[in-house]
Amino acid sequence: MPSIVPSQHPIPGEKPEGAVLKRRIVLLGPPASGKGTQAERIQATYGLQATSTGAMLREEARSGSELGRIAARHTDRGELVPDALILELVQEWLETHNGAFVFDGFPRTLGQGEALEQLLEARGTPLEVVFFFDTPLEVIRDRVLNRVTCGNCGHIFRVGLQVSLVSDPCPDCQGPLIRRDDDTEAVLAGRLAEYREKTEPLIAFYRERGLLVQIKAEESPENVFAQVRSALEAAV
Ligand code: AMP
Repeated sequence: MPSIVPSQHPIPGEKPEGAVLKRRIVLLGPPASGKGTQAERIQATYGLQATSTGAMLREEARSGSELGRIAARHTDRGELVPDALILELVQEWLETHNGAFVFDGFPRTLGQGEALEQLLEARGTPLEVVFFFDTPLEVIRDRVLNRVTCGNCGHIFRVGLQVSLVSDPCPDCQGPLIRRDDDTEAVLAGRLAEYREKTEPLIAFYRERGLLVQIKAEESPENVFAQVRSALEAAV
């Protein structure tokens, strides 16, 4: 396999020969389709900074900020947070992460997709690939109801797979495992309805732009990462 180089700036330790690594990446898909897990893997493997608008909002809510309080009114009901609020967060983040990034769960509406396109165009750093994590409904339900996150390191685990009980310590750092407030059957119904109505149109939006790569996301994290990896490293 040829060694991989980033399209503009070299990543420390990578040799500039052979294929070109895609380094401006969007992860698109329904709740619990594995976006967060794959964002972590892409970051760990290639050193590309990953960010999740959902995690940013949870952090704002924990800190008790005005933005966090407004956002929680929506997230608690499984509704999307208004575009203006999300774009404010993302714009600020992009100021310090211009040329390379992995967006997990952003954009989630056509309005966000169009705004991101313009923001990146103005910077001369267009998106290079959008992964669509195609996931059957029964897999989503199972994952949402069994998902836990470490309150300390933020790593994601599944009860019954990597840990036996929610009360177990984090396998990576021994921190406390927590369930997300919105990972319940009742809130999931709202999140799926929002996804179908507002997020699914982005699949066609990115397909038209030739950026979409469809991933079979019901497979194991290893197999999903193998699919992601081959598309990221593919010659253009
Ligand atoms: P996630 O952690 O990606 O599952 O997001 C959790 C919740 O945060 C979602 O159900 C939405 O309420 C909100 N959220 C996260 N990202 C966005 C976004 N890009 N646009 C609107 N709402 C978002």
